[in-house]
Amino acid sequence: MLNIILMGPPGAGKGTQATRIIDEFNLPHISTGDIFRENISKGTELGLKAKAIIERGDLVPDELTIDLVRSRLSQDDCAKGYLLDGFPRTIAQAEALKTMGPEIGRAVNLVVDITVPDEVLMERIAGRRVCPKCGASYNVNTMKPAKEGICDRCGAELIQRKDDNPESFKIRLDNYYAQTAPLVDFYKAEGLYHHFDGMIGLEKVSAEISELLKANQ
Ligand code: AMP
Repeated sequence: MLNIILMGPPGAGKGTQATRIIDEFNLPHISTGDIFRENISKGTELGLKAKAIIERGDLVPDELTIDLVRSRLSQDDCAKGYLLDGFPRTIAQAEALKTMGPEIGRAVNLVVDITVPDEVLMERIAGRRVCPKCGASYNVNTMKPAKEGICDRCGAELIQRKDDNPESFKIRLDNYYAQTAPLVDFYKAEGLYHHFDGMIGLEKVSAEISELLKANQ
């Protein structure tokens, strides 16, 4: 069973690797960031609550995020595995997942962490373009789509995220180190943690992750 958490700082390559993992292993992709953005664009109550927080680079309150994940993970398509991308991001979220996972028959069994030095993250975020429809990521300098501004995967028009600006990025990175990085020790203690160096190149990272997942399928 592949019940996976994908973690790493903003710009480490999570989005790109997530797309590859879900395509190769046929898993539902549960990206809390994508769910929030979808709610913002639809103007739902959750979207209204989260909009300003997300745009400035802060974290949405644990309570809201945990409820959202609980209801999404409980859906039938997660029974045969899932890829959680961007959750948990705080120890409180990890604790909640540790309790809810077994309760709903969805206990996490692998944590994949991709890391990259800060100066590289900043550069990647500045050039990042994303697909608002399928979540695929591109970079105007290093990972261009075949046709400029158009998603290779689904044909939608690419956008730049509102929080991919230097000010929000700095807040996101500070939050990452203060709130999310402690999860490394949390998951090491659980015996679930696997580290990947995001500087070895996209193909190599992808091959290494794929090998780990195949061995745990
Ligand atoms: P991402 O697409 O994963 O970079 O998420 C974009 C933004 O959504 C983050 O900067 C947060 O504001 C919010 N967000 C996503 N996941 C979480 C989470 N697990 N906890 C709190 N906020 C989150």
